Amino acid sequence: MKLFNLTISFIIILFLYPLHAGAQDNIVEVPKAKLYKEKKTALNYLEDENTVTSFGKISDKIWGYAELGLQEFKSSALLIKTLEDEGFKVEKNVAGMPTCFTATWGEGKPVIGVLGEFDALPMLSQKGLVPNQDPLVKGAPGHGCGHNMMGTAGVATVIAVKKSMEEHNIKGTIKFFGSPAEETVISRPYMVRAGVFDDVDAIIDNHSSTGMNTGFGVSGNALISVIFTFRGKTAHSAGAPWEGRSALDAVEIMNISTNYLREHLHYTHRLHYVIMEGGEAPNVVPDRASVWYYVRNTDERIEEMYERVVNCAKGAALATGTELEEIRVMTGIHQRHCNRGMAELIQSNIQLIGMPEWTEEENEFARALQKELGKEEKGYPEKVSELKEPSGIQVGGGSSDVGEVTLIAPTATLRFPGGVPGMIFHHRSAVSAYYGSAAWKGLNTGARVMAATAIDLLTKAEVLDKIKKEFADFSEEHPYKSLLPEGSEPPLYLNKELMEKYRALMEKARW
Ligand SMILES: [Zn+2]
Repeated sequence: MKLFNLTISFIIILFLYPLHAGAQDNIVEVPKAKLYKEKKTALNYLEDENTVTSFGKISDKIWGYAELGLQEFKSSALLIKTLEDEGFKVEKNVAGMPTCFTATWGEGKPVIGVLGEFDALPMLSQKGLVPNQDPLVKGAPGHGCGHNMMGTAGVATVIAVKKSMEEHNIKGTIKFFGSPAEETVISRPYMVRAGVFDDVDAIIDNHSSTGMNTGFGVSGNALISVIFTFRGKTAHSAGAPWEGRSALDAVEIMNISTNYLREHLHYTHRLHYVIMEGGEAPNVVPDRASVWYYVRNTDERIEEMYERVVNCAKGAALATGTELEEIRVMTGIHQRHCNRGMAELIQSNIQLIGMPEWTEEENEFARALQKELGKEEKGYPEKVSELKEPSGIQVGGGSSDVGEVTLIAPTATLRFPGGVPGMIFHHRSAVSAYYGSAAWKGLNTGARVMAATAIDLLTKAEVLDKIKKEFADFSEEHPYKSLLPEGSEPPLYLNKELMEKYRALMEKARW
């Protein structure tokens, strides 16, 4: 059976590979964007050494806070203060999440949005710019995905745009969306449900990277994050086991069922779980057990797959005589569908701005980290990437709640430099690289591309109209429908205990 599956996979790979490789080579020609006075004002502000340093320091501070999703109190407060000091109108506690906020400047149409994240990852604590493993606080969280730079880059962007709007009397609104808990893909579906993006005409998303690029088309997976809790009956495990009903048995049978289910799911699926609770001692029949699932598939297949996983839970409860006490959907998100017009506009500004220049000292660290990881010791990259046609093939992969936003307004993601090629995301090597001068330059370069793009959108009605037309056509084919069950609320308790455990220790070890 296994062999047969392998053969089928091999045939599929053989069939897909040439298509995939061919499509990847299709470069979309995009002319360099124009530099004009409105853009120059924003870029002059960002290029100033004082600006580079002040936003660099904000990024490093957030790196030091390393707050996990929905616990980003210090990180969001720092970004909010920076925006308020520049005259932005800030709305806090958005969509029922204390660390979610929006910041607005200007009025009327068009409304251009910039997304920003600031949450860290568990267990990745690491000293900045140290190539070998050397945690600041053993076991504590760390910024292994560069979200410390991303919220900061977004804030720098909207402030630069505001300065130009003020000086040149540009009409419209620039808006920053402070989005918590991206690593657990939680905030955006709740933000969409609360109508936070309703009046936005176009959105620029950003993510830290090692090079500089953007893209369009569909990518990643839709995801439903859900905790199943079973209720049984305690009893003495040896004295009177017949009196008990084990909730842990239900979790185990559910997991066996979903593992059998894999064979009959479309090959686009991804399915993984961790057991959250499973009793405390073998001699007491556990009366409560829970398991946390990530159910992932394409937008078209996610709901059907989720229903089958729920049926596995129901079947397990029936088989064990326990009760399926709660199905807690924490979040539900779609795939990312980036707008081509937005990607082309971002690309034209990538070509205008270009890569930062790295110092010898920065390259020395990059090579040391590459050596430590056994990768080619080539330092930081010097060239931006070209825009490519999407491959059109969707098999597996991760998820981002930016996907929700791409279904509400025309959106594309800028990936900006600062990371070391060869480093591993969600790993201490990324934590060590996303601190200090190269990170500062990377996020500043990202902010310049985003600010230039926002100014094009604010001042060139024909560009925005084309982008909105593409989005309107796409929306007709792919209308938005929330994957959140009615009544679901963001899980604000998430990561609370972990942050309580490490916050004071991290404060003491402040880097
Ligand atoms: Zn990330």
